[in-house]
Amino acid sequence: MNYAFLLDWGKNNALTLVAVGITLVLIYHYVIERDKAVKLSKKYRNSIFEAQSRIFLNATQYLIEGNKDLAIKEFLNAVDLNRETIDTYFALGGLFRSNGEIEKAISIHRSLIARESISESTRLQALKELALDFDKGGFIDKAVETYKDVLKINRDQQDVIQSLCRIYEDIEDWDQAYNYRIMLSKVGHENQSETISHILVQKARTLFESGQFKACAEELEDAFRFAPSVSAKILRLRLFLVLGQMENAKSLLLELLKEHPMYATFIFGSMENFSNKLSQYEEYKARLQELKAYFLTLMDIDLMSSPSVVLSKIRLLKDQERTNDAFDLLDHWMKNHGHSDVLRVEYIKILIEVGKVQEALTQTKSLLNNLHSSLTRHYCSQCGYNSDDIFWRCPQCHNWETIQFRWKV
Ligand SMILES: [Zn+2]
Repeated sequence: MNYAFLLDWGKNNALTLVAVGITLVLIYHYVIERDKAVKLSKKYRNSIFEAQSRIFLNATQYLIEGNKDLAIKEFLNAVDLNRETIDTYFALGGLFRSNGEIEKAISIHRSLIARESISESTRLQALKELALDFDKGGFIDKAVETYKDVLKINRDQQDVIQSLCRIYEDIEDWDQAYNYRIMLSKVGHENQSETISHILVQKARTLFESGQFKACAEELEDAFRFAPSVSAKILRLRLFLVLGQMENAKSLLLELLKEHPMYATFIFGSMENFSNKLSQYEEYKARLQELKAYFLTLMDIDLMSSPSVVLSKIRLLKDQERTNDAFDLLDHWMKNHGHSDVLRVEYIKILIEVGKVQEALTQTKSLLNNLHSSLTRHYCSQCGYNSDDIFWRCPQCHNWETIQFRWKV
């Protein structure tokens, strides 16, 4: 007996094995139920069983021949849907979906929905499965439509609402993303305020980028009503610059840096982005320079102990070609703190620029001894996703504000 051959055949014919399994389940139920007192006459039950077995045997035959479509049709023709066969259908549909055979999963779930003899709860379950098929298969419009159909039957479906939230956030339809987040906050127990604030900030940012500053400010106020998220504050800071409210801008910057010093480099990076097509461009740039100058004067001890704040200052000074000032600042910092690989790299660069090559070599050596394997600046605390970019919503696990910073020894 060639067992390797059998194994190989089993791999290629997983569906056939499933079909045989289903047939066995049916026979089992037939045997168990045969002796029970049932309303149907024995003869009638026998004929149903014969019909069912014939269908499944046919299906098995088709599968062996490799004709999966006909096989499924045979499965779906099975008469006398009872609780067990329905569960089997769901199992088979799920198997097809996880196997990437979306079309087949869809046809199974559609045929279940079309059945007249099933209960409402089974129909709802089949509709949910169908939506998952569309979702997995990338048929976004159909997935959305079907998820919504499920909600029409029963609004209290947290997982379905969550799926709609994910889809709308993926395609950046922030209006709908907002609507379904609100719905989720009513159905679920988790507080959604932070996320809703983020969504409203995304909406406001789109308005900001197209120069609709009044509408942007209104959306932003809404965002603050839900939660004063970091992203909301950064956008408000940019709005202050556009409106020329410099005192507000300065105090908000200080507040932001004290609350979240690790965002310092990102704050300045994101403020640079301003479309030169907008009429406020020149004013904005001038005011940004003023804000940067203010930032360079901040010498608060707490602030200056943050590597991110120091790095932002070093970069601003280098942009202004004040290399010696940058060196003095960093030299002082390295001698008093000195526990940041990122700043050490910056320090080595400046040491070379100011001609202190020997010191640069010493620093390089100690850097190499300390260098950790982590190469990205940020990672997701939920799923470990790595990125150099700031992400408010993790592209991998879709959670909001799970970003972590790698400022380590
Ligand atoms: Zn993640």
